[in-house]
Amino acid sequence: MSKRDFYEILGVSRNASADEIKKAYRKMAIKYHPDKNQGDKTAEEKFKEAAEAYEVLSNSEKKQRYDQFGHAGMGGGNGGFSGGGFSMEDIFSQFGDIFGGGGGGFSGFGGGGGRRVNRGSNLRVKVKLNLEEITNGVEKKIKVNKYVSCTSCHGTGAHKGSGHTKCSTCRGSGHVTRVTNTILGQMQTSSTCPTCGGEGQTITDKCKVCFGDGIVKAEDVITIQIPAGVGDGMQLSVSGKGNAGPRSGIAGDLIVVIEEIEHEQLKRDGVNLFYDHYVSFIDAAIGTSIEVPTIEGKAKVKIEPGTQSGKVLRLKGKGIPDINGYGRGDLLININVWTPQKLSKEEHRTLEQLRESENFKPHPTGNEKGFFERMKQYFE
Ligand SMILES: [Zn+2]
Ligand SMILES: [Zn+2]
Repeated sequence: MSKRDFYEILGVSRNASADEIKKAYRKMAIKYHPDKNQGDKTAEEKFKEAAEAYEVLSNSEKKQRYDQFGHAGMGGGNGGFSGGGFSMEDIFSQFGDIFGGGGGGFSGFGGGGGRRVNRGSNLRVKVKLNLEEITNGVEKKIKVNKYVSCTSCHGTGAHKGSGHTKCSTCRGSGHVTRVTNTILGQMQTSSTCPTCGGEGQTITDKCKVCFGDGIVKAEDVITIQIPAGVGDGMQLSVSGKGNAGPRSGIAGDLIVVIEEIEHEQLKRDGVNLFYDHYVSFIDAAIGTSIEVPTIEGKAKVKIEPGTQSGKVLRLKGKGIPDINGYGRGDLLININVWTPQKLSKEEHRTLEQLRESENFKPHPTGNEKGFFERMKQYFE
């Protein structure tokens, strides 16, 4: 199913401001809110669709990626839920507060209770890998500067012993309910509690180290397992290894962006590796043995007598492993016959003598693979 344009879904222009986007989403969310459209599957779909669009367009990093690459830029395990699979719970826990504040909220956030859980932000790191590491898979220790739980207050944000008090405004529920009389009759509205910001509790005495946030910036070393077969630009998401969430919240994800270090001699295309090798026309004529680089070190390869330039030799299974475990690619060696570019008088004379020799004239028998045939070998 092809996805609709996120801007179109929210009904805003591509250069709408963050505020306009938020307002547009709020309007949509209220219109298609499940409380108002009970049992209406289309409304539920629209509600989810709008939330998905808003999740991307309200995040400057994701918005930039979307503007540049469209929906194609949204795949690849970015840790969010923009890849699909949107549940109502996700929407309420992430955007629940969008309904609050303006007085137009609705009661009961999808039955999941309304208490807000703080989620830490995702953390992005780049990891440079060479082909050997990519082939074998590797464990990397990465030093990062991130928000970690405050050890002084154990992440609660409260000064030792002071603890939390149930918020007196909302009595711990995280939202305040109000009954208003409208022309349609009595309407119960609910919004995020202004006192505790939806957390349901307040801190009596804030921690002196984190000033009540429950998180502090610190250096951390994260160990990550990188599977074999990753490629340049690929993103791996490590759940819960991002920034810690404020006040005993949930940590965000660590997004690992793979950067491939180019190999000096081997070129990579997906699971296959390519290597260009030159032999003299004498070696091509009488045969020889050459050494070629592989991920595992040098390998000896035989050049048969009478080898033509452009012959492709294949070392099966010497390429890059498939990331999904479907075996390993090949190493393809392109044999070029080197034509001398400088000759001494004596060499020139020798070749002059050989020129008229019948064996030195091209004698294609039809078994030599032509250009297209050779190219086809790469994609077999
Ligand atoms: Zn603290
Ligand atoms: Zn409260």
